[in-house]
Amino acid sequence: MAYVVLARKYRPRDFQEVRGQDHTVRALVNALDFDRLHHAYLFSGTRGVGKTTLARIFANCLNCEAKISSKPCGDCSACEDFQSGNYLDMHEVDAASRTGVDDTRKLLENVHFSPNVGRFKVYLIDEVHMLSTASFNALLKTLEEPPNHVKFIFATTDPKKVPLTVLSRCLQFHLRNIEPAVIREQLETILTQEDIQYDEESLQLLARSAQGSMRDALSLTDQAISHGGGNIAVASVSEMLGTVRTDEVLEILNMLVKGDRNATLAFVNQLSRQAVSFADLLENLQRTIHELALAQITGRTDTEQLQPFLGKFSAEWLQVAYQILVVGMRDLKYAPDHKIGFEMTLVRLLDFEPVPNSIPEPSSLKNENTANETGSGQGSKVKSKLDSRAPNPVSSTEKIDSQTIQSNSTPVQSTDTSKTDDISQRKSQVSNNNDVDREAALKDPIVSSLIENFDAHIVDIKRT
Ligand SMILES: [Zn+2]
Repeated sequence: MAYVVLARKYRPRDFQEVRGQDHTVRALVNALDFDRLHHAYLFSGTRGVGKTTLARIFANCLNCEAKISSKPCGDCSACEDFQSGNYLDMHEVDAASRTGVDDTRKLLENVHFSPNVGRFKVYLIDEVHMLSTASFNALLKTLEEPPNHVKFIFATTDPKKVPLTVLSRCLQFHLRNIEPAVIREQLETILTQEDIQYDEESLQLLARSAQGSMRDALSLTDQAISHGGGNIAVASVSEMLGTVRTDEVLEILNMLVKGDRNATLAFVNQLSRQAVSFADLLENLQRTIHELALAQITGRTDTEQLQPFLGKFSAEWLQVAYQILVVGMRDLKYAPDHKIGFEMTLVRLLDFEPVPNSIPEPSSLKNENTANETGSGQGSKVKSKLDSRAPNPVSSTEKIDSQTIQSNSTPVQSTDTSKTDDISQRKSQVSNNNDVDREAALKDPIVSSLIENFDAHIVDIKRT
């Protein structure tokens, strides 16, 4: 038997099999079971979320010989014809290839004749927004006063292009992008049925890459099975997708903890040779940093591989890192190439070395600009090493050796009482020079651009 692609083989045949569109399914089921049927429906949503699938199931429910219900019998000839896609009173049209008014007139010519075999003639017009204005006008006449035996179902990826006069005559359902978790679950079910070996991480990669589309997820899975020679393994999937593996993200986190610049740059070169998508890597880093930031609040993470990193980064560093990654992602398109953009973002992350809660030595505090002293002394800091790493373009009077930001939000470790006295002593030592230094620091172009970029997250230096 010829191979049937997964997306077709596992296309839902009844409402129970539809995934991720609960609200629409519930409305349609109720309409069928309580006999509150409208004459025209419009399903909108991105590709592969189940628009035509729902339309076909709905049409089947309307025409099952047993009765109109949300659970067609599956045995009658109408149900069988629907399953094989040969139901005589189901008229499917792809508006993308038949946009002209003549096509629409031809389609509507027979509307007034009774159905051949069933209760209803169902017209499913896919990508309805592609119809010409004249076609819409021709359609509108029938939509205004449709015969009782006719149901229209329109599907579109772009409902904004459908004229309001048409929209107002339809019941509209917007199908959501399907959650990666729902897609992953469905892939798991299908692969188990197909008796194909897989690993959890591959499914996560596939589900995420599908961007909310079940059809895309299944097509990618088909491709992954071919690519992996009958099995699905994370190495081959990530190679196929050009995506990033969790291992690679963890490796980068490790390098950030160590502040190992050379190793980081070497690793980027290695990734570049593997043709990894740097945009994808930035996105993955963002997700990981987000997860770690939440873990700082809740004190736990469900991702086992992130356990070793808990407490390694201060809450402030995670905020700054997230912001750097967002900016890095945004600016990727302005970089000469993605590798350069990614490299610069990593270098920037390294410049804000994540220093866990440590008490600075008094000597190192002499020239420090303490940005925020409102904290209780607990907390953590982000230490910018811009000056110590690169030649400073700013004059010596404006120069800041380092910038320490302290805050009292979500302490990672607590400081004992003997250390608290020590800190207050140092604070007063620093405060004498603070006003002058702060003014100078604010004039520094690096500092001002940082404040601009990380405004919400870095404490307001002026205020303190
Ligand atoms: Zn039936």
